Amino acid sequence: MTNKRIYLDYNATTPCDPRVIDTMLPFFYEHPGNAASRNHPFGWEAEDAVTTAREHIADLINVETKEIIFTSGATESDNLALRGVFEMYRRKGKHIITVATEHKAVLDTCKYLEKHGGEITYLEVDKEGLINLEALKNAIREDTILVSIMWANNETGVLQPMKEIGEICQEKGVLFFSDATQVVGKIPVAPKDLGIHLMAFTAHKMYGPKGVGALYVSRKSPRVKVTEQMSGGGHENGMRSGTLNVPGIVGFGAAAAIAKSEMEAETLRLKGLRNKLEEALLKQVEASSVNGSKEDRMPHVSNISFQYVDSEGLLMTFNQNIAVSTGSACTSASLDPSHVLTGMGIEDGLAKSSIRFSLGRFTTEEEIETTIKAVITGVQQLRDLSPVWELHKDGLI
Ligand SMILES: *Cc1c(COP(=O)(O)O)cnc(C)c1O
Repeated sequence: MTNKRIYLDYNATTPCDPRVIDTMLPFFYEHPGNAASRNHPFGWEAEDAVTTAREHIADLINVETKEIIFTSGATESDNLALRGVFEMYRRKGKHIITVATEHKAVLDTCKYLEKHGGEITYLEVDKEGLINLEALKNAIREDTILVSIMWANNETGVLQPMKEIGEICQEKGVLFFSDATQVVGKIPVAPKDLGIHLMAFTAHKMYGPKGVGALYVSRKSPRVKVTEQMSGGGHENGMRSGTLNVPGIVGFGAAAAIAKSEMEAETLRLKGLRNKLEEALLKQVEASSVNGSKEDRMPHVSNISFQYVDSEGLLMTFNQNIAVSTGSACTSASLDPSHVLTGMGIEDGLAKSSIRFSLGRFTTEEEIETTIKAVITGVQQLRDLSPVWELHKDGLI
């Protein structure tokens, strides 16, 4: 991050904050203990450090420390929630409701469950990216055990109506799980206030290290349990075995404490920069538009389509210096248009003309200005060479 390259792909991963790294370092060598070692100071130190981190994380989302289960990241947390609930509540039912625009960690896990006796309903979204609450109500059946709806979409930043969804689940007596990876540490998040019973998130999307995440599991009204997906020692209240990643957890805790204290000012700053970027591009680039709701959206994300411009080609005009993404990092290896954008009713061509800009803690105004210029120049270059753009300009398409 110290060179001149510009990083605007914070939704894929964030750099680890140097303050976070400082808190982690002693736990590699000076304090090497296993947090489960009960009979010497090395173990106690590690356990104390994990306890402090757990307190910071629980405090950030306003839950009890015992409700935090450490995992290796949000993918594992998504798997633990979905498979764990499916197995634990199997006698109650086999039906799960989710949304077509979820992250692959949820969608692929649902596909797995379908192969193993589960029945899944995939709710559609409207052109803003939002689910229909009536459709959700109608989808809930006698044998529905779980509603799984992400809080903010990773590609568009669109925020689902969590409070209303929570109320519906409460009324129908169904568990509510949310992949909240893109919101925790960035906007105020309090699952208990919204009737969310399980919630997945990860350190590396909030300036902590990669390879450590958490699943919040409600312990009171209702007391929820998930079947462990890895056997071996019964750590984390029997829900996730394995030696705790002490340095990673310490970093996760430090990241949570920093996020909490800086969130308010940072949200305002990022919103200002995002709006500057978005307004400049929409104004100066013809036939460009924002994908997803502009009201119900994270403050640091902008997903923009540039008509008749192939986004992979556009990226190539500047990606040596500026990192943005087409689709999400997890699916950008594939050439298919984004399932999130097509799920919103955006046709394939326009979906393939879209770029996600995601800003973060180390983004500067100067970087935004450089990016605006680079994108405008890139679009111009590609359109100058494009016969389709010419047809469009002549009013023929
Ligand atoms: C990044 C991301 C994940 C995966 O998190 P990992 O910690 O990398 O496994 C899951 N869900 C969403 C919404 C994400 O943005």
